[in-house]
Amino acid sequence: MAFEGLTERLQNAMTKLRRKPTVSEADLRETMREIRLALLEADVNFKVVKDFVKQVQTRAIGADVLKGLNPAQQIVKIVNEELTTTMGTEAVPLNKSEKIPTIIMMAGLQGAGKTTTAGKLALKLKNEENARPMFIAADVYRPAAIDQLEQVAKSIDVPVFQLGTDVDPVEIVRQGLEQAQEQHNDYVIIDTAGRLQIDEKLMDELVNISNLAKPDEILLVVDAMTGQNAVETADGFNDKLELTGVILTKLDGDTRGGAALSIRAVTGKPIKFVGQGEKMTDLDVFHPDRMASRILG
Ligand code: GDP
Repeated sequence: MAFEGLTERLQNAMTKLRRKPTVSEADLRETMREIRLALLEADVNFKVVKDFVKQVQTRAIGADVLKGLNPAQQIVKIVNEELTTTMGTEAVPLNKSEKIPTIIMMAGLQGAGKTTTAGKLALKLKNEENARPMFIAADVYRPAAIDQLEQVAKSIDVPVFQLGTDVDPVEIVRQGLEQAQEQHNDYVIIDTAGRLQIDEKLMDELVNISNLAKPDEILLVVDAMTGQNAVETADGFNDKLELTGVILTKLDGDTRGGAALSIRAVTGKPIKFVGQGEKMTDLDVFHPDRMASRILG
């Protein structure tokens, strides 16, 4: 289960605190030490942990929480609020273009769940907005990638624009966008090439596609199971591309929490959606407050 270890350790720290009749500054420090270790153990970025602990401590001491009623309860509340803030405070909706189509570019490393997530997003738009999305298949390096997109698209009845693997991806995107204009699709979702790791050629290609398509959204898909690697990946893509958001996949797995808790703070970019399963319906809007409550258990 996701966050299992983290939740357990946070709850233990809180329970210990609640059992105390009064809470001294030393007790607070001890709790914060346990929280810090729990977060580090969950693979949360070191600086994010440091800032988080400092913020909770400053608030708890500043507001005279320790002398007030129910100090332990107040501290739990502050921890919950600061976890929420660390993950971005509020849900951030999809950017939409004033005139159709809204262009969404999907990026991510191979295996992160990019193609699956493109399908989930298209289905969400269909179901919730009665939208008519279209995919552009711009991953020309693996023939299997186009097949996979075709399969996903077929399962949710969304058209795919593709020109096989012998055409330059930028040209594919250009022609695909033309077709979307003609056919009045209200969303275009561009599935770009994934690699095993960030390399310059891939980034150049993504930048070229982005320069041509001028997407309303550039969504980076990252695998929550990879913890700090997901954060580094997001940082790396964000250096070259104007990411507008992140989609965190595989939150149904036993991810420790590091990616969910670090990405926003490290990259400054919001997590917009989370993938919570392999089915096409398993995509949810990311709500930082709900995620904080889930982590606290
Ligand atoms: P891509 O290489 O980035 O396009 O990745 P794929 O879309 O092919 O996904 C890789 C694998 O991850 C597939 O087996 C997907 O079913 C799986 N996957 C994607 N998102 C999720 C998710 O949210 N939860 C789970 N459990 N599996 C996922």
